[in-house]
Amino acid sequence: MAQKSTILPWLAGIVASGGGAAATPDWAALGRRWWSHVEVLADDRMEGRETGSPGFARAADYVIQQFRAAGLQPAGSDGYLQSIDFQVNQLDPARTSLELVRGKDVHSVDLSQDASHIVSSATVEQCDAETVFVGYGLSVPDLKYDDLAGLDLRGKIAVLVRGGPADMPSALKAHFQSPQVRSDSLRKAGAVGMVGIVNPTIPELPWPRLVSGLLMPRMELRDAGPDGYKPLPLVVTFNPDSAEMLFEGSGHSFKDLVGRLGKNGPLPRFPLAVRVRTRVGVTRRTATCHNVVGVLPGSDPKLRNEYVVVSAHLDHLGIGTPINGDPVYHGAIDNASGVASILEIARTIHDSGAAPRRSLVFLAVTGEEKFLLGSEYFAGHPTVPGRLVANINIDGVWSMFPLRALEVLGVEESTLGDDIRSLATEAGVEIHTAYEPDRVLFIRSDQYNFIKRGVPALFPQIGYARGSPEEKLAHEWTRVRYHSPADDAKQPVDPEAAARFNDLQRRLVLKVADADARPSWKPESFFARFAR
Ligand SMILES: [Zn+2]
Repeated sequence: MAQKSTILPWLAGIVASGGGAAATPDWAALGRRWWSHVEVLADDRMEGRETGSPGFARAADYVIQQFRAAGLQPAGSDGYLQSIDFQVNQLDPARTSLELVRGKDVHSVDLSQDASHIVSSATVEQCDAETVFVGYGLSVPDLKYDDLAGLDLRGKIAVLVRGGPADMPSALKAHFQSPQVRSDSLRKAGAVGMVGIVNPTIPELPWPRLVSGLLMPRMELRDAGPDGYKPLPLVVTFNPDSAEMLFEGSGHSFKDLVGRLGKNGPLPRFPLAVRVRTRVGVTRRTATCHNVVGVLPGSDPKLRNEYVVVSAHLDHLGIGTPINGDPVYHGAIDNASGVASILEIARTIHDSGAAPRRSLVFLAVTGEEKFLLGSEYFAGHPTVPGRLVANINIDGVWSMFPLRALEVLGVEESTLGDDIRSLATEAGVEIHTAYEPDRVLFIRSDQYNFIKRGVPALFPQIGYARGSPEEKLAHEWTRVRYHSPADDAKQPVDPEAAARFNDLQRRLVLKVADADARPSWKPESFFARFAR
């Protein structure tokens, strides 16, 4: 009785391919259908779907239309929508400066080339403070590891390199680098601000794109609640190519530190010889935007009050600095592709007639690019009665090559990992853990807000074998298209890979919804502590 829907794995494909007798799904047709959603959501008309923009509202209308067609019931606070109020903070470059002061020597930092402020509701207009290099700046009580121990940070600015020691488990490294946990520990140590140097050993966005992202409007929840994020009064991101200037006169060089990055153990920590002096202009306003929420009610009277959340973020970066003449940050893969996947999962479940025992929530969130705000709001203010028992979050369906592997963040943390492993094995697909643990992608998408509230979660992506040509393609994609207008619907894709990926996720969703027991954390998982 628990396996009601698992006898139907192929039916969705048969329906989609016109009801013929073929037992194999028409992956090409399913893939084209998936990509057609991406084409709509990444179109110029959607203006890059920035949180709070008319383009986002048009994209939300499209999702509502598709949710309705997939038989989902409205489950927001107003129809399918959940309304969220934001505080918007935008840096005003004309009123902003950053200086490094050593004795009488004042060096004015170039704010597009060398560094960038990150503004928030807590940003102060002026700051002048001594600096201390705190290594990775991590405080991890579990490991009795503390980069801040024994340092006098009162009234000072902590300078750190992002990342962490190679021998620190990536889940811990991720959690303790999250802005909220990091700010709390620095504040407790007395610091008034932080300068975070981008770690040059971690593949990331090229500096100019990173800066153009930081200059876009920053947002916070107006109703963040008592446990919400409390930013530091001063936060600066520093270009590693320019970071040497922070170390002048300290007796240490950034170059030496770079040689120690990605090795075991902490970095040295020491006072720096420069003071940081800033003026920061911030323009403040408010905005309203929406999550889109649809529900397929469960069929089992005992289990239908338990909800499996299938999520993807609908927002992207909006309109910004033009690259190759295009100012629209289309966000085709990031994350129209994930929204397209949850639309297809909902539709194929509906078309197959499956009646999962638990209820399914399909959730297209806003504010992800503003640091996971829509999912934070939903997880804190769920619009469904009952209990959230699992989250499958899809952010970026990298369908550039055939599906042979999955990268699954969180695969070792809960029974959801066992579920996806067994389905992937049946499908001949390999499972990999995080390829680049130091990019801390585990806390960079929406599943993290569910994890923090004790809900087991997974973030699956299309993966590749290490050292393969596919890996090169993936890195090239990050370099050229990630958070760039070039992430558009004209880029080459393998829609079949996405169709197979969607089918695996659909089966995962049904397996979780139909199982006798709800998912649980592995007792040894770091994240088990958040479960109530
Ligand atoms: Zn993104």
